[in-house]
Amino acid sequence: MTTPEKQGERSLKGSRFELRTVENTIDDSDADRLAREGRWGFVHSEETGSAVDGPGMRVVFWTTGCEFRCLYCHNPDTWKLKHGQITCVDDVLDELKKYKDYLSFSGGGLTISGGEPLVQAPFVMNIMRGANAMGIHTALDTNGFLGDRLSDADIDEIDLFLLDIKSWDPETHIRVTAKPVEPVLKFARRLAERKRPVWLRFVLVPGFTDAPENIEGIAKFVASLGNIERVDVLPFHQLGKFKWEQMGMKYELGDTPTPTQESTEAAKAIFRAHGLNCPS
Ligand code: SF4
Repeated sequence: MTTPEKQGERSLKGSRFELRTVENTIDDSDADRLAREGRWGFVHSEETGSAVDGPGMRVVFWTTGCEFRCLYCHNPDTWKLKHGQITCVDDVLDELKKYKDYLSFSGGGLTISGGEPLVQAPFVMNIMRGANAMGIHTALDTNGFLGDRLSDADIDEIDLFLLDIKSWDPETHIRVTAKPVEPVLKFARRLAERKRPVWLRFVLVPGFTDAPENIEGIAKFVASLGNIERVDVLPFHQLGKFKWEQMGMKYELGDTPTPTQESTEAAKAIFRAHGLNCPS
């Protein structure tokens, strides 16, 4: 019988929300070694016409591997490195080359997202360098926790950072992601020192990250950095729930509502009050 949930799952087919894991027979240590070498990497999926992952139209590659365990993650199938498709840098660049004119015409480019791309920093940087050599704008969508894996030269190679700060309050950050916030803030400061453009992303989760003082803390911090071009407040949604269930994992946010329009606007107003560009 076709249930509304099943219909919903079908409509996700081919999108970033589709559940995808590859059963590579490679063991974890070999996967780590490949990721460290950087010529091969693990890719969850690819999208060729995204308008929400940086300026213009973007080709987006989602890599696997993530050290966070966000309670609201809509891509838990990206967490394990070896659950991605083993992919060669040259193949990614060949694919990208097909869209070069289209990307340039739309003012877009390449975005690498995840998972957390910096789990595979050498692989990601090889792709970024190749894209730059083709004159394609590059963006890295990162939670910043592994920012130390990038050298200053690596950082300068990337045109735009889409940086997530999940929470200002340290306890809430650990509760939501299972990791501390300080390495993320350290990376944010480093990007500011190197004057790299950043689009900040903040996920508004009722009952977790939506306390006004939590949002205020992030807003005050990022406003002081001087390199934040834009802030996107992303309302929590339930699109990833089915993945948790299908992967046999306990999903704790089943009863968490999506934020109201009023609460989303109130969060945006806090960022705007600090002089930040926070689009409607
Ligand atoms: S950082 Fe992103 S991919 Fe990793 S657990 Fe959080 S939401 Fe999921």
